[in-house]
Amino acid sequence: MEELKCIGCGSVIQTEDQTKPGFIPASKLQQDTKDIICRRCFRLANYNEVTPLQITPEHYFEIIREIGNHNALIVMIIDIFDIEGSLIPQLAKLTNFNDLIVIANKIDLLPKSVQERKLHHHLQKILADNVLKPQKILFTSALKKTNLDDIFDQIHHLSNHRDIYIVGATNVGKSTFINTLLKSYAGSTKNIITVSEHAGTTLDFIKIPFENRFIIDTPGLINDQQLTHYVTEKTLKAITPKKEIKPVTFQLNNQQTLFIGGLARVDFISGEKTSFTCYFSEFLKVHRTKLENADNLYDTQLYKVLTPPYLDEEFPLKAYSFTLDDKMKYDIVFPGLGFISVKGKLKLKVYAHQKTTPYIRGALI
Ligand code: GDP
Repeated sequence: MEELKCIGCGSVIQTEDQTKPGFIPASKLQQDTKDIICRRCFRLANYNEVTPLQITPEHYFEIIREIGNHNALIVMIIDIFDIEGSLIPQLAKLTNFNDLIVIANKIDLLPKSVQERKLHHHLQKILADNVLKPQKILFTSALKKTNLDDIFDQIHHLSNHRDIYIVGATNVGKSTFINTLLKSYAGSTKNIITVSEHAGTTLDFIKIPFENRFIIDTPGLINDQQLTHYVTEKTLKAITPKKEIKPVTFQLNNQQTLFIGGLARVDFISGEKTSFTCYFSEFLKVHRTKLENADNLYDTQLYKVLTPPYLDEEFPLKAYSFTLDDKMKYDIVFPGLGFISVKGKLKLKVYAHQKTTPYIRGALI
């Protein structure tokens, strides 16, 4: 049978997976095989709304490489709560070093006391380590429309009449951001989607007319460093803060241990009595115990006192050793979960999900 393609984005039509390109509910797929439009394009056309899409890394790199063939502005959305999980490997090289703006989303979740200057500096460093040199790093909460006017002005200015490609890993809030942008600035544009010039190549771009050029939405990359891919829906709900994170402080002597539910653990091996200030979702409980009891507690209380994870959910932990000096305050970062800030000459053993790598940064607060 001949493949059916969406007249909007060019994706091959399929009825199995709504997170993948070209999805249409089986009941909607009629006999008439002309002018078929996938659900994502339908929603964009009728409700001015983009829906998130996921694709494999191999497919993703094809897409990103295609952007390198155009002189365009790239807007990369990242999740401020999971910076590592938001990164797209080789983005700069694959896109032919096109101009880049980085928008750090979900700023509403960070405590107000986080200093934007420090956050900016920290981000700039991580991005530089990944060969990304954005023209601008901007902060927003796409949900709360924070700094939207400024972001709009910067995109307008830096795009300089060129098309704008919006890229991001899954779950960083790319769709929420585009929807906020469209609702705030595009009005209700008629014919909001146009046939993609890549139609037929199934690159799954969606072109949205915007002023006198296009905003082009791209599917989200599944970054295997993202914790969200290794937890159940229920755990994801528990680890995702719903509002500004409130710190909880524990005074710890050495040879004590903190458990963040059963999802992370810090053993305080040596050092003076120290404050451990924990920044996690309001749904996660932190438990203190003696180091000598910690293994036993984990073995007997995982899924009970130490929860989430929830019953029978695999959440393998891996340990890392860190030695800190007392020159400044540091954050121990658990990508996708949160962070703990400490100050002192400390030896620590830090446990996190084996697919994510905990690390130390200068404290944001
Ligand atoms: P996409 O996969 O990158 O398109 O991400 P979505 O736009 O679907 O958002 C993923 C999740 O993050 C959803 O649960 C959103 O509600 C949430 N989200 C998006 N933007 C924000 C934000 O600014 N703040 C907060 N707290 N959550 C957000």
